[in-house]
Amino acid sequence: TYVVGEACIKCKYMDCVEVCPVDCFYEGENMLVIHPDECIDCGVCEPECPAEAIKPDTEADAAEKWGELNREYATLW
Ligand code: SF4
Repeated sequence: TYVVGEACIKCKYMDCVEVCPVDCFYEGENMLVIHPDECIDCGVCEPECPAEAIKPDTEADAAEKWGELNREYATLW
């Protein structure tokens, strides 16, 4: 799955939301998050993000810092 990180905070771009084929982006408190069970790992959103905030969770750093938070906010809805 992919995770959204710090660079997304207060970002105004929604490019990722538009390209995601399964609509798995959700609103967090001050950033967007990805629902980890809905993301199909297509990778389309990563290069579309102008803030470079989206990373695959195979990057340990992104997963450790942001994985929980993405799940927490995405599953509130
Ligand atoms: Fe959506 Fe694909 Fe990005 Fe997952 S990797 S959030 S499915 S665009």
